Amino acid sequence: YCAKQRNDGAVVYDALIDKASEKNLSLLTELRKGIERDEFRLHVQPKLSLDTGRVVGIESLVRWCHPERGNVFPDDFIPFAEQTGFIRVLTRWVLEQSAALCRDMALRGIHLKVSVNLSTRDLLDQELPEKIMDILRRHQVAPGSFCLEITESAIMDDPVRAQQTLERLHALGLDLSIDDFGTGYSSLAYLKRLPVNELKIDKSFVLNMENDAGDTKIVRSTIDLGHNMGLRVVAEGIESEAVWRLLAALGCDQGQGYFMSRAIPGEQLADWIGQWRAPAALEPA
Ligand code: C2E
Ligand code: MG
Ligand code: MG
Ligand code: MG
Repeated sequence: YCAKQRNDGAVVYDALIDKASEKNLSLLTELRKGIERDEFRLHVQPKLSLDTGRVVGIESLVRWCHPERGNVFPDDFIPFAEQTGFIRVLTRWVLEQSAALCRDMALRGIHLKVSVNLSTRDLLDQELPEKIMDILRRHQVAPGSFCLEITESAIMDDPVRAQQTLERLHALGLDLSIDDFGTGYSSLAYLKRLPVNELKIDKSFVLNMENDAGDTKIVRSTIDLGHNMGLRVVAEGIESEAVWRLLAALGCDQGQGYFMSRAIPGEQLADWIGQWRAPAALEPA
């Protein structure tokens, strides 16, 4: 170990990088094994129409059931999967599972729009549209039953290529949604140009909106902006009936949140829908 002898900082820095990449290499190995060993689980969170209380769709949210670390949440491995490119493997897995679930529900007479999250790396894959169409065809799912959620920052990483991919996906009949709207550095010029169908208001504005006049103003303005552009507006992070009512009164189209349901294992979705009852009298008192 030569860092002591040279003592010039650069070597110490190299050693640190080596340590970091060693750790990352083992995480990458674990992710790969995770796919092989079937450790990932598809969870879904219901999306409801805020005026009728009916379930109109679901969002697919991946969980990693790690043999030693237990249930690992996406925030603890998705960013790393994005950096290393492993996300493409994971995205394909999520798309397959989501299409299979969509088909399974349709066979039970439950027709839902299924939303899947995409990352920057997915958008930069020129073959993504064909890959998605192949998955949908194999599972006999219509493109109109699928929605792809993309964050503003994923688009702004390479706006030209992102726009090309999004236009092809849109032309194939898939729905597109801008996720976490209001938290990224998007520009309204892009929002105008992109072929999107839906805006999702980030939960940071929704969680506490009944007590925060500033949040309510932002949410109200975003709903109006979305509607003026002909988009469906969805709120995430609804944790109380009060927030549901407020959003419904502001004209927000759809919502999801812990008040209705957390993300649940895909196998439990049909049972959840069977027992779901919307709160009585959603209309304003
Ligand atoms: P997101 O796409 O914005 O998903 C919404 C997140 O908010 C989910 O967290 C969901 O469980 C959580 N949430 C929903 N309702 C409430 C609520 O009422 N209160 C609170 N406090 N939280 C709520 P989750 O599942 O931990 O996912 C976090 C993020 O990880 C997602 O944010 C998404 O960006 C990413 N992610 C999850 N699954 C995938 C995936 O399959 N692919 C990719 N690329 N990203 C994914
Ligand atoms: Mg999302
Ligand atoms: Mg979101
Ligand atoms: Mg989010």
